[in-house]
Amino acid sequence: MPRPGPGVCQICCGPARAGDPVCYACGVVGRRLASPLVPVFPVRLCPLPGPLYRVLLGYKESPVAEARHRFAAIVRTLFREFLLTRADDLVQAAGGPLDVALPVPSSRRPGPAPLARVDGIGPDTERVLPGVRWAPVLLGRSSGAEHCPRVAHLRPDAAAFCVDPARAGALAGARVLLLDDTYVSGARAQSAAAALHAAGARATVIVVLGRVLRPDRSDRQAAFLRRHAVRGSDRAG
Ligand SMILES: [Zn+2]
Repeated sequence: MPRPGPGVCQICCGPARAGDPVCYACGVVGRRLASPLVPVFPVRLCPLPGPLYRVLLGYKESPVAEARHRFAAIVRTLFREFLLTRADDLVQAAGGPLDVALPVPSSRRPGPAPLARVDGIGPDTERVLPGVRWAPVLLGRSSGAEHCPRVAHLRPDAAAFCVDPARAGALAGARVLLLDDTYVSGARAQSAAAALHAAGARATVIVVLGRVLRPDRSDRQAAFLRRHAVRGSDRAG
């Protein structure tokens, strides 16, 4: 994975124009959110279409149960291996030890985040990051959001998510790890981080399995992939 630097977005590690600290999407989302964006740690670059994208969509949407289970096991392994190798970087980015971990809620589906239903992610996270509590239902969609989704591509809105009032005490001054499957413009994950901040979190870092790129639509993204692709990086499926 590329690290922030020239040509690599300081926020999401996606492709930035030479001389720009952040990519186009982070620039737009940051302005619209009117809240500082939080650092994103992508586990892999994720070209669309591609085998990793198939996994990250399939674990929640495949019509075949066996395929969903197989993809979910890959999702679990990718998170665990990343947390095992990069825990120190996450703590450094958060400014101290992490306290709480949770998945970014879906802005479209009711109920728990798809990642919350992947067997083993919570126990893995608590085992790899001592002191962290897995809190999959701490953050949810704001009521009514199912009728009026306010988060869309490049359209963040912290009000789309809300913290469960009964659990809000766990957030006061906490450093939070947010997990998500894919990161496109970051509108959803960064809105979730802004909602956590508004509810009292001290710092948030985001880990996403796939920083989605569209080489078929963007020459810059295609060139970025060629420059940074590591052999095997998109062979999760
Ligand atoms: Zn970015």
